[in-house]
Amino acid sequence: MLPTLVLVGRPNVGKSTLFNRLTGTRDALVHDMPGMTRDRHYGRGRIGGKPYLVVDTGGLEPVAKDGIMAEMARQTLQAIDEADAIIFMVDGRAGLTPQDKVIADRLRRAHCPVFLAVNKAEGMNRAVVTAEFHELALGEPLAISGAHGDGIGDLVAEALAPFPAEEAEPDEHGVPKIALVGRPNVGKSTLVNALVGEERVIAFDQPGTTRDSIYVEFERDGKPYILIDTAGVRRKGKVFETVEKFSVIKTLQAIEDANVVVLVLDARENVSDQDAHLAGFVLETGRALVVAVNKWDGLSPEQRDDIKRDIGRKLAFLDFARFNYISALKGKGLDALLKDVEAAHAAAFIKMSTPKLTRVLEAAVEQHAPPKNGLFRPKPRYAHQGGKNPPVIVLHGNALEGLRDDYKRYLESSFRKAFKLQGTPLRIQVKEDE
Ligand code: GDP
Ligand code: GDP
Repeated sequence: MLPTLVLVGRPNVGKSTLFNRLTGTRDALVHDMPGMTRDRHYGRGRIGGKPYLVVDTGGLEPVAKDGIMAEMARQTLQAIDEADAIIFMVDGRAGLTPQDKVIADRLRRAHCPVFLAVNKAEGMNRAVVTAEFHELALGEPLAISGAHGDGIGDLVAEALAPFPAEEAEPDEHGVPKIALVGRPNVGKSTLVNALVGEERVIAFDQPGTTRDSIYVEFERDGKPYILIDTAGVRRKGKVFETVEKFSVIKTLQAIEDANVVVLVLDARENVSDQDAHLAGFVLETGRALVVAVNKWDGLSPEQRDDIKRDIGRKLAFLDFARFNYISALKGKGLDALLKDVEAAHAAAFIKMSTPKLTRVLEAAVEQHAPPKNGLFRPKPRYAHQGGKNPPVIVLHGNALEGLRDDYKRYLESSFRKAFKLQGTPLRIQVKEDE
């Protein structure tokens, strides 16, 4: 699973600036989809060949009420508990503050390594700017500048030292590995129970470490599936019902670990930013996706039209995915949902031969040649498959850097049609002929 870096610090020390830098190095393969927005508080990145998740706790809490950070918001505490490494940021220009000490006290009890980053240190003497922060007793302070990028590579390298350099290859044992995600109260636990059956869920409801993901295996219609536990799965039978069960980090990790994501929406509410951000994150990971619009029972035709319109408008960038209108409570629509999961899984792991890909490419180019870009007209010559889950199609030819996004989308839809790819993102990469 991808390591998770968690940024902690009082307001204004530069967390969101660093967050942007840490997530700015994302895969160049993901061309921006119209309408897709990213959450500014969680994302993925890669530095020095190592992929990671990063969470800015500045976004996990509602505006802190009185006594800033005296009571760190619960979501922040939860993120601290679930982190693989914490980057504790302080402001080298403002110097050490009482709030920093309060946070440091809490972080000393963290179970994972804490890296003390003295930010805004550009143009300053490292020894001088870090000197007073030794007092926090959180190891050697590292001078960085989030705004200028100084020291970031070293900081991340140190934080990620225990983790491997490459993402695991998507596994292909043929059983869909499903992450069921959505914001609180959309009906995830109810859906899990409906799919798996209450008994199985309770059977897996054992105290485990927070870091281990738990797989729930189940069969339906004789077909096997694996469900990755997000906190919701284990809620039933938990003693502490009041414990916050929604975890951003667990959700992100489950998405990374899955090969098919079921995004659950609540038909009784409008699509929220949080829904759209989760969807955007799934797209970024390249996982296959099926959407379940839950609580479809008991709605009037007008209400149904309204929600469909709202979804169509706000989640237009998910046009590759199937939408299922279900009722977890009444057990309606679940077989169709799983059928789409199967189809999305099959599409995500499809094998496309070079000759067939090239034939589709040639036909598409013949029907509609790439427009000139500057002096040159891009000339795609052949295509081969460069990856799975998501399928990656690599185009070879001349002047391909000049292929515009809308033309790539045209090719994408040609490949989709030819290979009947549904439910999986598809990436188009270009490779210049030598
Ligand atoms: P957050 O509240 O912790 O997320 O902090 P922000 O990232 O919003 O930054 C707070 C302020 O500090 C902004 O005005 C940033 O431009 C500034 N800032 C952030 N990083 C740096 C840095 O490396 N050097 C300097 N000089 N200013 C910075
Ligand atoms: P979670 O927080 O996403 O795990 O959501 P829960 O499964 O705990 O469900 C939240 C609430 O929505 C509960 O009161 C459920 O009974 C209700 N609920 C879940 N699924 C449905 C459904 O299909 N129809 C209706 N009407 N209510 C549902």
